[in-house]
Amino acid sequence: MNPKLTALALLAVLPLTSCDKIKKILHKEKAETVAQAETTAATPTPVPTATPEPTPVAPTPTPRQTANKDAQVVVFCYHRFEGKNLGYLSIPPELFDQQMQQLKDAGITVIPMADFIAWKRGEKTIPVKSAVITIDDGYESGYAVAWPILKKYGYPFTVFIYTKFVSSGGKSITWEQLEEMRDAGIDIESHTETHPDLRKKGGKSPQAYDAWLTQELKGSKDELEQRLGIKIVALAFPYGGNNQHIRDIGKQAGYQFMFTVYGQKIAWSANNDMIGRYAVEFAKPEIYQTAVDWSGIVESGTASEVAQTDAPPSDVATQPKNGETVSDPSPVISADLSSYGDVTQTTVAMRVSGLGLVPATLDPKSKVLSYKPPTPLTDKSYTVIVTGKTTTGKVDLRWTFNFNPAGASAPAAPAAH
Ligand SMILES: [Zn+2]
Repeated sequence: MNPKLTALALLAVLPLTSCDKIKKILHKEKAETVAQAETTAATPTPVPTATPEPTPVAPTPTPRQTANKDAQVVVFCYHRFEGKNLGYLSIPPELFDQQMQQLKDAGITVIPMADFIAWKRGEKTIPVKSAVITIDDGYESGYAVAWPILKKYGYPFTVFIYTKFVSSGGKSITWEQLEEMRDAGIDIESHTETHPDLRKKGGKSPQAYDAWLTQELKGSKDELEQRLGIKIVALAFPYGGNNQHIRDIGKQAGYQFMFTVYGQKIAWSANNDMIGRYAVEFAKPEIYQTAVDWSGIVESGTASEVAQTDAPPSDVATQPKNGETVSDPSPVISADLSSYGDVTQTTVAMRVSGLGLVPATLDPKSKVLSYKPPTPLTDKSYTVIVTGKTTTGKVDLRWTFNFNPAGASAPAAPAAH
């Protein structure tokens, strides 16, 4: 018999004053019952009030919900939490803490990878402004520093691990620590075996290259699954490096979601094989700020779907040109969209690698979309993506230019994969 019911039965039968002992024994049960009763009493009853407010009703679980396509997700990529002296990939713990607080303040909900995936599959509704937090490589500070901070905020997160690094000494996380994280419900996914740039063939024959790719991608998945007894569904490309061939091998290895480091807000329709993440560096605060800024967002969602194209169509003039090297640290970045017809300011968006969504302006007459970075460029290479909608179709442009303060050069041959 249910002990709670037994307790209630006893309470009903025994005069409360007659037996202190039983009262004491029952005290805890009673307290729970009272608490439940209070909860019940707190539930709104159909008594009319002066200001009737809609009561939030717990959603009824249904086998298949429809994903809300108005939501957008920012995916953060962190590495180490040991202070800036350890390089640009290591951020001070206090800064990480501040950024986590800022998500809360900005009304951005941190969701687990599982919810993100369910949403992408059309099975779940998520908050309109959502974030996924990921930590790459497998440094111990992810376990010892980031985890307690994330726990404080109640944020779920994912670690992308490259397996050869685990338990290798130094600052690496151990298999035991990963087991502890797994048991606490932390999502663990793959980041290859040895963290190579997967695009570098290193003189291998096509067959040897494919075998090597498969080993890096499937080997790490298998080891994580076997060591930890988990299911790996996601891969983060080291350095974000990928191309169609690598993504195909990744799919064959069983990855359903693959992540790069190209920061952009992820719409429901975004390509699952190259989901962009904002790689947060302490020296580039604008990356984080762009990620959490939801103003001026246009519905796009297709930015990553066109990323296989290396150059814009020849009838679109871009500045700088595809493959061009510029020496000006603040060049005007622009694309002539006149061939697309009726584009407007609110239906187009420009994204620049390392900067994310930028506030580009569209000249209504010339239909040139342009942007001048307010802070000097620092990276060697920049990829620009312009997406948008017209009444007859969509705008999907992508090109790359290089920055070298030492000197400019004419466009090189179109970039190859
Ligand atoms: Zn990495």
